[in-house]
Amino acid sequence: MSNACTNSGCDCTPNQSIKCTVNNCAHHCQNQDYCGLTSITVGTHEANPTMVECTDCQSFKLK
Ligand code: SF4
Repeated sequence: MSNACTNSGCDCTPNQSIKCTVNNCAHHCQNQDYCGLTSITVGTHEANPTMVECTDCQSFKLK
C-alpha cells in the first residue's frame, strides 16, 4: 500500500514521474519534491486557460 500512503504519519513513496512542490498537500513527500500518488488529475478553474496559473492539481488534499 506504499503508493496509497499519504504523508500523514507513514512513509511516502515518491512517484518520480510527478514532481511537486506543494508542501501543504497530504500526498506530498515532504523531504522530496515529489507526489506520493500513482496518478493525479490536473484540471482548470478557467473557461479558457492560457497560462500555468490557470491549471490546478485536482488531487490536492489539505494535510
Ligand atoms: S496530489 Fe497534487 S498537489 Fe498533492 S502532492 Fe500530488 S501533485 Fe502535488
